[in-house]
Amino acid sequence: MATLSDFLMTSSIQLFIPGPVNVSQKTRNAFSRPMIGHRGNDFKKLYASCQPRLQALFQTERPVYISTSSAWGVMEGALRNLVQGKVLHCMNGAFSDKWFDVAERCGYHAEKLQVDWGNPITPELLRARLEQGDIDLVTLIHNETSTGVLSSLKELAEVMKQFPNIFFVVDTVSSFSTIPISMDELGIDVMLTGSQKALALPPGLALFSVSQKAMERAAKIKGRGYYFDFLEFQKNHEGDMTPSTPSIGHIYALQSKLDDIFEEGIHERYARHARTNKLVHDWVKHHGFEFFAPEGYRSLSLTCVKNNKEVDVAAWIARLKEKYHTIIDGGYGKIKGTTFRISNMGDETEETVSQLLSWLDDVR
Ligand SMILES: *Cc1c(COP(=O)(O)O)cnc(C)c1O
Repeated sequence: MATLSDFLMTSSIQLFIPGPVNVSQKTRNAFSRPMIGHRGNDFKKLYASCQPRLQALFQTERPVYISTSSAWGVMEGALRNLVQGKVLHCMNGAFSDKWFDVAERCGYHAEKLQVDWGNPITPELLRARLEQGDIDLVTLIHNETSTGVLSSLKELAEVMKQFPNIFFVVDTVSSFSTIPISMDELGIDVMLTGSQKALALPPGLALFSVSQKAMERAAKIKGRGYYFDFLEFQKNHEGDMTPSTPSIGHIYALQSKLDDIFEEGIHERYARHARTNKLVHDWVKHHGFEFFAPEGYRSLSLTCVKNNKEVDVAAWIARLKEKYHTIIDGGYGKIKGTTFRISNMGDETEETVSQLLSWLDDVR
């Protein structure tokens, strides 16, 4: 948990951008522990110690694999392991739009289910397209980090259950561990997350789990390659190892973070995110700003604010950085400047988020 002294004493820049987020001193200490061999018993113990707690966070009985890559590695890898026919990409922001691009670059037949940035993917839209047939796999970004839109995974998963032959791949990079997501109950075939967003670890690690049905499909796919081959992950997992040499520092950091999460309690962690998110929301309303996302679909781990007051966002952030060594994000891609984003992911508390908001007021 970040303390105010952590926050003030470090000379580095405090990150309230939606990733990478602040990494605590405790996590950084774990990250920099001495190396061990990745085929020895110490590593196997380290790996095994993470497993039950990762399964609890994913709410799955399936193994959770650890990939030394950013999330995009597994996002591309999921396609390479599973796709046999047409891929449908639910698209409503920068990350979901890019996933379509990645599928095309891999040579797959990809189709867009596009809504305007700022809107959620609705179950009606998904159902209408799937009823037309011809889709092999669906990709969804649960929490579009670029727009602060949280689609209703529960409703979308209900639709997917009516099409049991279609694979459902879900990116939970910026929602994982901030709200409950039950992989098994929702019938998700591949659920993945990255290290540097909601988990507040250094960038460069991804976590993912694969349903039995998806494993069986992968076994039939030719050209899965090696680095992201799900079958290699499973084979090595059976011996508490990863296919290739992993970033061991990251796994120490993950172990330390899992200690933090379960010491705090998962439900308390969810509740803390709800409280810090509400602080930001209250601040937005109090200042006469608007939300980029419609009510009912607002992310709980970050807030994308519409710059309806036409503030010079870049200059504002520059003053925040200069005076308080802290930054927020000035908007992603085509909505840079017309929106800005404040993250409450990771270890942030009511104390640190309140401090940020008062500093934003001070340098306004
Ligand atoms: C940041 C992000 C990614 C990409 O993560 P990388 O670590 O850059 O691979 C993917 N999806 C979402 C929703 C993200 O926020």
